[in-house]
Amino acid sequence: MRQTLVIANWKLNGNTALLKTMAEHFHHVDIQEQVDVVICPPAVYLKTAAVLFEPTGIKLGGQNCSEHGSGAFTGEISAEMLSDIGCSYVIIGHSERRAIFAESNEMIAGKIKQAQKGKLCPVLCVGETLAEREANDVESVIREQLETALVDADFDNLVIAYEPVWAIGTGKTATPEQAQEVHKMIRDWVAKKAPESAQKIQILYGGSVKADNASTLFHQADIDGGLIGGASLDTEQFDAICKAA
Ligand code: 13P
Repeated sequence: MRQTLVIANWKLNGNTALLKTMAEHFHHVDIQEQVDVVICPPAVYLKTAAVLFEPTGIKLGGQNCSEHGSGAFTGEISAEMLSDIGCSYVIIGHSERRAIFAESNEMIAGKIKQAQKGKLCPVLCVGETLAEREANDVESVIREQLETALVDADFDNLVIAYEPVWAIGTGKTATPEQAQEVHKMIRDWVAKKAPESAQKIQILYGGSVKADNASTLFHQADIDGGLIGGASLDTEQFDAICKAA
């Protein structure tokens, strides 16, 4: 059976005090057997987080990495650097990066390659907008995002997160049935590309996951955990989501 994975995406939020509160909390609460937990704070906090979370078993991830390995790219952070300071994961192609920072599927493909080369497990985010859902384009949009981002990817070192754009930060969660339908489609797609990996790959749901809806979502056949935004900034909520696995 696939292990449940819960990833906190702090986005542009949090500070040292929140890191300390979370680390202190999870130092005393043992959740590791049911679920793997990953925290992705802003990059400047990763080094501190590596020290604070070391005793908890919680792993760390970046929220983004460069599609370049090194060189004259001011402001960028490479996958290898994230790995060097103790990260195991990196979120790639979040819809906010796609929409606000104009990341194309091709750039995202470059980032996936760098992540895997840098010994990180990329968490590829895919998902449709409300207009695309209303136009019945969910399957084609997600297929395109998968096809372009995962050319030559190693499916044994990859997590896919389905995050419908209309559910992110809106309080509108996809119903467990809606989410399951897309997750199954994604797993079927993986089965065609890499048959050996299809039953092993973790596919996470993201978009307004809270303590009270996490359990039903996580218990769907093809949902293996969640990518949590807002609720991951609240220790009690996040703890409850981890325990919902
Ligand atoms: P919310 O949980 O705040 O809706 O954000 C989801 C998300 O974007 C996680 O990457």
